[in-house]
Amino acid sequence: MDRQINAFTVDVEDYYQVAALATAIPRESWPTRESRVEANTERLLGLLAGRGVRGTFFILGCVAERSPALVRRIAAAGHEVACHGFSHQLIYRQQPEEFREETIRAKRFLEDLIGEAVFGYRAASFSVTRESLWALDTLIDAGFRYDSSIFPIRHDRYGLPGARPDPHLLEAPSGRTLVEFPMSAARFLGVHVPVSGGGYFRILPYWVTRAGLRQINRRRRLPFTFYLHPWELDPGQPRFEVSALSRFRHYTNLDRCEARLQRILSDFAFAPMREVLERRALLAA
Ligand SMILES: [Zn+2]
Repeated sequence: MDRQINAFTVDVEDYYQVAALATAIPRESWPTRESRVEANTERLLGLLAGRGVRGTFFILGCVAERSPALVRRIAAAGHEVACHGFSHQLIYRQQPEEFREETIRAKRFLEDLIGEAVFGYRAASFSVTRESLWALDTLIDAGFRYDSSIFPIRHDRYGLPGARPDPHLLEAPSGRTLVEFPMSAARFLGVHVPVSGGGYFRILPYWVTRAGLRQINRRRRLPFTFYLHPWELDPGQPRFEVSALSRFRHYTNLDRCEARLQRILSDFAFAPMREVLERRALLAA
């Protein structure tokens, strides 16, 4: 039987680097914050090892510079090391030159640490949108082989409604192409529901997630992208005063996430994103 193999992905960043909390946490204060990303990522690595699942870790450059040993641990455990940019700025708020410099800095740093090429890129808060498609050319210039930043939904901070839902070759503004493995959404009653990770995974009942993911795998015969952040497994993280919406998105069900993760790992099959793309012949093996 042909069970779909899905991409398991992690965006490696700390609880205070999240865009939803930016109003309460000035960037200048980041270096003085208690860092919890190493412990939380180690916990996640242990969980995945227990299930024999490997995935792709999109690591933030500034986290890698502070915690280089963590990057090596992720690679040594057999996971794919990929790039989550450097500073976690939204791309459409950056100047192209600033984006280019810091993205290359992050990619090179990761490559020097693991001694191999980094293929994959994911933008902070999926911020490849209509206003920032130019970034795809920067990614091609920097030597990335695939991007996983496009969310084919409507959202206040990100999204490219109408974008293709399957892994495919995407044309950048220059006419050159890059492989895109988009974020996944199910369709319930004609509405796109992003069931594939993060806050959606924590907030929606698990049966909704499972039904949506089964729809993608079985009815549409597509692999989905699952994504999570290490802080989503950490109910003990410091809390900040933010808007009710941000509080809801960031703090709901942190204490239930680990049990749900165990369920999804037994209900679906996963591999690193690069391997899923190789199986589909979008990347050379
Ligand atoms: Zn992120």
